[in-house]
Amino acid sequence: MKEMKGSQEISKTPSSSKRTLSSQGSVDIYAAQCKNCLKWRVIDTQEEFEEVRSKATEEPFVCSRKANCSCEEPADIEYDSTRTWVIDKPNLPKTPQGFRRSLVLRKDYSKLDAYYVTPSGKKLRTRNEIGAFLKDNPEFKGVSVTDFDFSSPKIMQDTIPEIIEQKDSANKKAKIAKGDV
Ligand SMILES: [Zn+2]
Repeated sequence: MKEMKGSQEISKTPSSSKRTLSSQGSVDIYAAQCKNCLKWRVIDTQEEFEEVRSKATEEPFVCSRKANCSCEEPADIEYDSTRTWVIDKPNLPKTPQGFRRSLVLRKDYSKLDAYYVTPSGKKLRTRNEIGAFLKDNPEFKGVSVTDFDFSSPKIMQDTIPEIIEQKDSANKKAKIAKGDV
């Protein structure tokens, strides 16, 4: 828990069941930690989450920002290894209107890759691609390259499911067996 101090923003991926693992990879719950009571509150939409995240320092999250919620209410969700938690860098820019920021978890849980999807559905994976896209699409005049950030969130090692390791060694065994035949 020490590592989470000062990190108000978190997003999470589920990972506790096999089924989740096979379709693994994207964030399905967003949560923020109250700076007063330290309870975790589920943030309903990515948009709200980004709003909270973009002001993490100047306006730290508190329970009362959620409708009908206060520090008296039990936590929405507990930080534990029933899910894999990843923590965003604080104060990431809010994704410009119409664009979507997406994160995909690598199969071995080593890293999340960030990319953006344009309003027309095009995936952009680097700052250079963003720059080129904005240049080619002058209708996004108010949007700047600095509105995009490809920082990868930190994966909380203590919430990575054990099944990943098991799966890895099972695969290795399978491969060796094949080679023997
Ligand atoms: Zn609170």
